[in-house]
Amino acid sequence: MSQPGTVAQPLRVAIVGAGPAGFYAAERLFKETELVVEVDMYDRLPTPFGLVRNGVAPDHQKIKSVTAAFDRIAGNPSFRFFGNVELGRHVTVDDLKGYYHQILYSTGAQTDRPLGIPGDELIGSHPATEFVAWYNGHPDYRDHQFDLSQERVAVVGVGNVAVDVARILCRTPDELMKTDIADYAFEALRNSRVKEVYILGRRGPAQAAFTAPEAKELGELADCDAIVPPDEAELDPLSQATMTGADRADVRKVEIIQELSRRRPVGKSKRLVLRFLVSPVELIGDESGRVRQMKLVHNELYATDAGSLRPRATDRAEMLDVGLVFRSIGYNGVPLPGVPFHESWGVIPNDGGRVLEPATKEPLLGQYTAGWIKRGPTGVIGTNKPDAAETVENMLADARAGRTLTPAHASAGAALALVKERQPCVVSYADWQRLDALELSRGKEQGRPRIKFTRVDDMLAALRE
Ligand code: NAP
Repeated sequence: MSQPGTVAQPLRVAIVGAGPAGFYAAERLFKETELVVEVDMYDRLPTPFGLVRNGVAPDHQKIKSVTAAFDRIAGNPSFRFFGNVELGRHVTVDDLKGYYHQILYSTGAQTDRPLGIPGDELIGSHPATEFVAWYNGHPDYRDHQFDLSQERVAVVGVGNVAVDVARILCRTPDELMKTDIADYAFEALRNSRVKEVYILGRRGPAQAAFTAPEAKELGELADCDAIVPPDEAELDPLSQATMTGADRADVRKVEIIQELSRRRPVGKSKRLVLRFLVSPVELIGDESGRVRQMKLVHNELYATDAGSLRPRATDRAEMLDVGLVFRSIGYNGVPLPGVPFHESWGVIPNDGGRVLEPATKEPLLGQYTAGWIKRGPTGVIGTNKPDAAETVENMLADARAGRTLTPAHASAGAALALVKERQPCVVSYADWQRLDALELSRGKEQGRPRIKFTRVDDMLAALRE
């Protein structure tokens, strides 16, 4: 068979995972001028956009407007969306090999990292990732329960996800009205009794993983005082030394934290307390197995041989009364059936996006990866653009060199027939656009940007109507 990439035989690519990395990969593929490329994008949910829909905080609507760019990419006549089709359930990697010259996995990082301390499993101790998926209306998490009758909450970790979770807990109903938060989450948060939210960093302000704009936002909440204990906002001499020559954004972040530490509460209804140099070492429950307290140790920083500053426990400890705990110490990748996986790194082993055979470390023909499942859960949405571009450059180089799979059924029609046979309820991009329009109009009726469908059955029923 002749080399694919011509009008008669386009290069057929399956992208598994319709988040930002998948869309940026499709965009880069369509920019190719020498080869004719066709893309089918699979997602196990009927809705595209991955973490933009299910992860980005609902009060960050501006960030979500990146979907307009994804719509433009999806508008390419050589693009198709196969939503509600799951790899490993409806189609396997071996199936895809029979229909595509190249397969790209961009499934993100779908689970959390555990804290690994006694009491982690108590009732009321949750991964932040689940709370995020819940308030964003992810169908798998919409029925989770979070006890918002508790007054005091701890969020462990000081990344942007921890800040998102704390901020959403502290927003007023008026603030949440302006968001596309899931309707049940809006109701639950409106009736929440949460009064005090602690965000707990194990290192100091200079090492906080959240970014400066997110820190600033904490000081601008309508009915919540942001508090930083002044002694914990101070930099220790080791951190102070790292500030010389630090990024402007990192210096600004420390300034914002220190500015917050000089503020006095002005009597707002809620308090958000940002703590540093503390680590939870145990969660303590009551007789019904529900979390009641957290034991914290105070840390000091030391420099490793490699020069980074790490936390070390001192002999000072304290107890924090909390009835709800969210651990927000990073996402973790989940293996895909039939695809190599590096368990301890939580990623697909790869070299520049070329999936590697674990035993030989040689690239697997025609298989690629991009996004968090390639590099781990770091960076913002835009980080996925160069990441996906790197992978696609290698895909195109391989295609030009004739290193592709040799599928028996390399046509768009054959792939569609397979998908329809395996999943009659496949959702196309046009279907998604109808759901999108319905969500927007339901939102308009209630003076909100969007009211999401949060059950797959409801989405499919709406499409049938
Ligand atoms: P992250 O940025 O990697 O932050 C993880 C936090 O958990 C760090 O503060 C880390 O502290 C802490 N941590 C790790 N292990 C811990 C332990 N055993 N005990 C206590 N603390 C521990 O992860 P993330 O917040 O999940 O965010 C993931 C990515 O998405 C990030 O790149 C983030 O910027 C991005 N994101 C961006 C936005 C936005 O742009 N608004 C919103 C959400 C997420 P150490 O530094 O000490 O390890």
